[in-house]
Amino acid sequence: MRLAEIIALRPLPAAGLLATLTRRCPLSCAHCSTSSGPRGEDTPARALRRFVGGFTAEDRPEVLMLTGGEPLLRPALVADLAALAAAAGTRTSVLSGMFFAADGRVPARILGALRNVDHFSASIDVFHEREVPRAGVFRAMHRIRESGIAVSFHVAGTDQDAAYLADITASIRSEFDDQAAVLVNHIRPVGRAAGWAAARTVPLRGAEPPGPLRGTGPEGASATPTAPCAMAAWPTVAFDGTVAACCNQRVVDGRPVPEHLRLGHIARDDWAAIRRRCVESPVLRTIRTAGVGSCADCRSLARRPAALEAAERSGARPAAGAMDLLGARLQHDAGAASLLRRYGSDRYAPLVLLGGPGDEEESA
Ligand code: SF4
Repeated sequence: MRLAEIIALRPLPAAGLLATLTRRCPLSCAHCSTSSGPRGEDTPARALRRFVGGFTAEDRPEVLMLTGGEPLLRPALVADLAALAAAAGTRTSVLSGMFFAADGRVPARILGALRNVDHFSASIDVFHEREVPRAGVFRAMHRIRESGIAVSFHVAGTDQDAAYLADITASIRSEFDDQAAVLVNHIRPVGRAAGWAAARTVPLRGAEPPGPLRGTGPEGASATPTAPCAMAAWPTVAFDGTVAACCNQRVVDGRPVPEHLRLGHIARDDWAAIRRRCVESPVLRTIRTAGVGSCADCRSLARRPAALEAAERSGARPAAGAMDLLGARLQHDAGAASLLRRYGSDRYAPLVLLGGPGDEEESA
């Protein structure tokens, strides 16, 4: 499965499920949006297996995206979830910080787990490179790719003019002969980057970027014009099993999750219930089709009863569901690069198409 396919599905309500498996990570990168480190919560494994095991051929997400922290600290769980998802027809993607790749090798337990997945992405940026050398990551990615798994890179930089971004994207294109897609985003002031990234980043035109880019939205940018939020389309499983309506890190980590952004819990709800709430919530429909302001405005909606009521009313109109699906379909059809021009790095957005048939012209 290509990265462009996954990203193009991002605006479609309930087309994907983002699941964090653990906040733990052997690395301690300075920009980590989830503030991950050697200690942290593990998402309850039994509840995750039960929840993903509840997917059916008739009612399932197209994509299950496993992330963390470092999801490959739980390789057996990755393998089990991918197998359960595949039994219902759902494809699985894994995003890793490549903690295991310093010497370029892929441990057998990790390669074994990845044989069950349909896509594998490596995070790489100036902070990861301080902990895991680029050469090791590249060698490991070749090994994974040779196993028949589609691979891509998730690259982050402070802004699109950063020299690092020019260097790393050229390096990946050359090393992988333009056969590995690259998703580029900008580091945002959330998680461990909250203290230092605010003054150095460029605001996005819209809300929080796609799942792999979570934690990098225009936090606190109350001047951000109201824009439809495509990120309110995929349920996100938080570290404690709560299911949020979006991947905004403050929503995923904050307790309580604002009621209009809370879809349920994996220990108590099944996929059908979570999907129904995601698709049918009037407030989420308004967020997806019209927007309610910046992420900060959206999170605080419950403290503004008149605005919340207006969002509910608007999303409950008879045509709201059809408009929601039409808008999502149009964004899907516009493709992954178009979405990343809004939510990722405008300049590098076409690189998400690398490795795909007929995409050479746009990504050149
Ligand atoms: S907080 Fe609201 S606007 Fe921000 S990503 Fe979540 S749903 Fe979208």
